[in-house]
Amino acid sequence: MNIFLRTVKEFVYEEVCSHLLVVGELKGDCFNCKEIGIDYLTAKNCPKCKTEFKYISYRSSFGNKDSNFLNIVKRRPDLIYIEFVDLVKLKGKKQAEEFFSQ
Ligand SMILES: [Zn+2]
Repeated sequence: MNIFLRTVKEFVYEEVCSHLLVVGELKGDCFNCKEIGIDYLTAKNCPKCKTEFKYISYRSSFGNKDSNFLNIVKRRPDLIYIEFVDLVKLKGKKQAEEFFSQ
């Protein structure tokens, strides 16, 4: 029986940010160049910056429902699912560190 379990793995922050497809309400957007309106069900690359998508995330995962997260994982098994809230927390921490190191 195949089941879906959430796991934690070490990633390189910059690598994830430059190859991430973010799923919104209807369409996806590129986390690298912020291009919007991308079909997240089929896109392999960003139409604007041409980055290859390796990771996928769901923007509305704040207070997420498992069904939404599973729909994305099932539809794009070729991409690694990243919890968006984890990435946003890191982004804020990174910006704060950069600000205070100036
Ligand atoms: Zn892009």
